[in-house]
Amino acid sequence: MSNNVDLSAELARAAEFPNLNLVHHPLVRHKLTHLRAKETPTSQWRPLIREIALLIGYEITRRLDLRSAQIETPITRMDAPVLAGLPPAVVPILRAGLGMAEGLVELMPGAPIGHIGLYRDHTTKLPVEYYVRLPEAKNRLFILVDPMLATGNSASYAVDVLNKHGVGDENVRVMALVSAPEGMRIFNQKHPTVQVWAAALDEQLNEKAYIVPGLGDAGDRLFGTE
Ligand code: URA
Repeated sequence: MSNNVDLSAELARAAEFPNLNLVHHPLVRHKLTHLRAKETPTSQWRPLIREIALLIGYEITRRLDLRSAQIETPITRMDAPVLAGLPPAVVPILRAGLGMAEGLVELMPGAPIGHIGLYRDHTTKLPVEYYVRLPEAKNRLFILVDPMLATGNSASYAVDVLNKHGVGDENVRVMALVSAPEGMRIFNQKHPTVQVWAAALDEQLNEKAYIVPGLGDAGDRLFGTE
């Protein structure tokens, strides 16, 4: 039995990016294949992206601090672990991030949700901010959610927005579904210490800045627009 189907080329690419954490759990890989397949309809795409976000979220939150709390079971008192700090904030980049954010919130129902709205200027190709609403920075983790880390410009800009809001790079995690080497390079020019999680590091971008092989336009596939 092996779950190492075709991983060597991807792992070789990933060696360039020490801050990229690839989640190669077999269920994640299986679900990603269905998200990639062009015949998968929106009705299946939505639950799949929610489920995969939940699985990646499980890895992102693996090192959250715990403290001991005294509780009473029906049998006796005991000291038992509970999360020590505030729940992480979930911040989807609009609009494609919304589907993955749902999965994270399922995992952490108490998580506050922020939103960052960006669009790409046709001439400069750079992100332009049109909406920002964030929970208080306090001393909490912020999980930025954007399924496609393609050019890296949106993710990098969104971390800038969090920085301006008082959230240091050490308190930011990026959750993507598919990343591209070009995007990771751009992202790392400004935020090399921010940890990025993704289900895959694909080969490259095409001339329209779509990830190859990728899965097409994540927003369109999630919302059934085209
Ligand atoms: N955004 C997408 O939705 N897909 C890509 O491949 C790149 C950016």
